[in-house]
Parts: sequence; C-alpha cells; structure tokens
Amino acid sequence: MTEALFIGLDLGGTEVKSGLGSADGSLCWTERTPSEAHLGKDAILQALEAAVRAALDEARNRGAQVRGIGLGTPGVVDPTDGVILYPVANLGGWHGTDLKGFFADRFNLPAVIDNDANAAAWGEYISGAGRGARVMLMVTVGTGIGGGAVISGELVRGASGGALEVGHTLFEASGRPCNCGLTGCMEAYAGGWGMVSDWRERLASDRHEAVAGKKEEELTVTDLIAAGLSDDPLANEVLDDGARALGAGLMSAIHLINPDVVVIGGGVIDARPRHLQLLEETLREKVLPKALARLEIVRATHGNQAGVIGAVALAAAGEG
Ligand SMILES: [Zn+2]
Repeated sequence: MTEALFIGLDLGGTEVKSGLGSADGSLCWTERTPSEAHLGKDAILQALEAAVRAALDEARNRGAQVRGIGLGTPGVVDPTDGVILYPVANLGGWHGTDLKGFFADRFNLPAVIDNDANAAAWGEYISGAGRGARVMLMVTVGTGIGGGAVISGELVRGASGGALEVGHTLFEASGRPCNCGLTGCMEAYAGGWGMVSDWRERLASDRHEAVAGKKEEELTVTDLIAAGLSDDPLANEVLDDGARALGAGLMSAIHLINPDVVVIGGGVIDARPRHLQLLEETLREKVLPKALARLEIVRATHGNQAGVIGAVALAAAGEG
C-alpha cells in the first residue's frame, strides 16, 4: 500500500517551516524557507505554494501519497471555513484570505487552517510534553505570548477562533498599552516585546551607556536574553520581572480551565531555564489549591517544530 503522508506548514513573519509526516505527527522531512511577509499577501501565498511543491516532490521521491495540508498561521482563523478574520500584524493584506480555497485550487488537496498557537498546542498534545493530558494549556513566550488549549482531546477554538488569547488576558487594569490596542494585557509585561520596552525605559532612566553597541530603540528580545545570559544585572532584573508577571498572569487561565498540564515553550524559555523556574514558583504561590492539586508545569519538547507537527496531525485529523 502507498504510504499516506500529510504536509504541515507553519507560517511566521520571517519564514515558512514545512514538513511531511504521518497521521501521528511524526515528521520524515522538514524545510525552512523565507516567508517574504514584508512583500505582502501575494508573496506570502507564493512562498506557501513553493513550500507545498517542495514537499510534494519529496513525497513523490519517497513513493508516498500526500493526502492533505495543514497550516498554522498568525491571526484569527474562522474555524468553519479557514478564512483569516482580522488584519494580522506583519502580514500585510492577510485579512480575508481564503487559505482553504487557495490550497484546493492550486493542489486539489483538502486543507485544515488554524491559528499558529493552536497548531503548536496540538503538536505538543499529540506527541510532545502534553501527551496524555486531560486538560492541557500551552503557552509560548516569544515576541508576544501565544496560547492554546486541548480539553478532553479537542482543541479549544472558541465560537469565532478567538479562544485562549492568553497574552491578552488582563494583567493590570489601566496598565501599559498593548500592541492589540487594549491596555494592561499580560503580553505587555511578560511577552518579549513588553520586556524589551520595559528594558529600554529602565536603560533610559538608569544609565546611558550603549548595550550591544546599539541605541535603546534598536534593542531586541535577543539582545535582552544575551545581556541576561552574560550577567547584566539590569537585563536579568527585567527578565525576572517578566517571568514573575507571566507566573502571576497565568493565574486567570489556570483558574478558568483547571489544567493538569501546562506546557511552556518559546524562544525566551528555551534560552533561559531560570525563566521557567521563576514563573513556576510565582504561579504556585498565586494559584488556588484546588487548581494546583494535579497541576504539572512542563517545558515544551518539540521546540520550534511544534507548529509543523501539529499542522501535520491536524491535516490528518481533518482528512479522517
Ligand atoms: Zn493585548
């Protein structure tokens, strides 16, 4: 019998991660190509098309048959028809894109489209740190904070694809402005960009020497982590505050869904073991005992492949 494979795609602001894998999410081939997001919608669609063609070629060489495509994309995805519902930062013109239709037209293959944080959560649930969880919450700390949840084997999408926006749960009423237009969101305190703006402010008021040879406004989360790892006290203070904010901020999500496993991943967590330790300490101090009884906090195991693995598994589930 011809081997059945699925294509998984994880679209980001700078690259498309793609892979070929089986229904259980195990990957046999992966690739990364530029997403060309700065050039707008048509360029992104071309990048996705090229990634699918490369995966189809690879499947052909293996004598396997591709049965479907899964895509994790930034933004809110309509759970019924796979259309992007709102404008997406860094992906110009993405709002309104009918991705299911696009893959059907180009490749005559069924496609499952979901939010990138949902795809990553599904990847960790299927074969990673969340395997076997009854109620799994996944939180990804990168530039922003992504969230996803699987309850009793079902990915929680919400009525209009907007569930588990953990980064935009309230951390401080009337607090710092957030990228989403609201104020006081957790992401503005514990997300990469939030910690970097905090760092820039403290640098401006505390001292004036340049960090990493850059002006304050040019500093990124990568610079912040690097400064922390080289024992810069201010950078570590900012990062520690961010980790504690995340621990305290997660209290709301934990009280709402009472998870048995919280999977934490993302660039900041991977680079800085202390971050996970501090956030866990804070969380265990804040959360009510009844929500802590069976709670396990674990580091994500699939790293930046979680989205591709989840997209493959979602494609397989969509086909069945
Ligand atoms: Zn927000």
